[in-house]
Amino acid sequence: MVGQGLDAHALPRRPSSVAFAGRSNAGKSSAINAITGRRGLARTSKTPGRTQLVNFFELRPGQRLVDLPGYGYAKVSEGIKREWQGTLANYLENRECLRGLMLMMDIRHPFKDFDLQMLEWANHIGLPVHILLTKADKLKNGPAKGTLLQVRATLKKISPAFTAQTFSALQRSGIDEAHAKLDEWFGFLG
Ligand code: GDP
Repeated sequence: MVGQGLDAHALPRRPSSVAFAGRSNAGKSSAINAITGRRGLARTSKTPGRTQLVNFFELRPGQRLVDLPGYGYAKVSEGIKREWQGTLANYLENRECLRGLMLMMDIRHPFKDFDLQMLEWANHIGLPVHILLTKADKLKNGPAKGTLLQVRATLKKISPAFTAQTFSALQRSGIDEAHAKLDEWFGFLG
């Protein structure tokens, strides 16, 4: 019998990670803070476009959150944009431990070029994506729900592994749903 006498929990486990990405100012830092519950863990940028470095956060042993740089402001040079794209592609393609991509999109401005590019990459490499439609408090319930349904319909056409929810760091709504997705991707390890 396979595994008899072996303690599965004692076997070394490769670390898993989930990447967080979004255009500058999409609310990524606020979402990371709300989801991890660790204030100050992810810096909240006051000036647009300040989040440029890749940060790793250890959520639980062997489970990492990777904070990818965002961009999207005209003032950022093409050279820097290309460099960031290279970094993102690198993370997405050397993804042996990468379980999924959380993509933050401002609910009022979904599917910008950056988002479409991320979805294209993820689809290409078979990486599941969960979209947080951030700052949902900026819309009334009806329009927020309408946007969510539209976004889900668009995602369905691309991949069944692409899902979406509404999220507000300000109102602290959508946190449980985001946790459930992380647990699904991390396989309830920990
Ligand atoms: P990042 O650049 O994607 O990391 O975005 P930040 O988390 O720094 O947020 C960008 C701006 O959006 C800041 O002014 C935040 O206060 C604001 N913001 C972030 N989350 C929310 C939210 O849930 N509701 C509202 N109304 N504003 C938010």
